[in-house]
Amino acid sequence: MTEAISAQGWPQPYRLPDAEPYWAALSGNELTFQRCADCAQAVWPAHSYCPHCGSPSLGWERSQGRGEVWSHSTIMRGPTPVWASITPYTVGFIKMDEGYYLFSQIDAEPDAVRIGESVTMRIVERGAQKMPVFVLSDR
Ligand SMILES: [Zn+2]
Repeated sequence: MTEAISAQGWPQPYRLPDAEPYWAALSGNELTFQRCADCAQAVWPAHSYCPHCGSPSLGWERSQGRGEVWSHSTIMRGPTPVWASITPYTVGFIKMDEGYYLFSQIDAEPDAVRIGESVTMRIVERGAQKMPVFVLSDR
């Protein structure tokens, strides 16, 4: 696998064919996920067949971009110069309101991030690619 680096230094994601609708939607500032037409389970990451029931009937839906922190870890030493330039930063799994889990950056002071905290998506540009990041929701 060749890792592409943007002009700004951000590593660009490896785009699997099943996830192309996800990347296309992000370019239009929308977060999407798959849902199975047979068992109604939310599916992410993208699959060709439902990982819950094996059905090939997966459709794309727009996510509302809200969820809660399911896990988190703060990175103190970035893996590349551009990531190192924003340390410390926090990443983790978000349990989305639609029922799927999304791994993402959580853009908040590390000490403010708690399991179960409500978060809301923002879209940021990382080189040529738009990416979702999450911020703590207004209370
Ligand atoms: Zn299914």
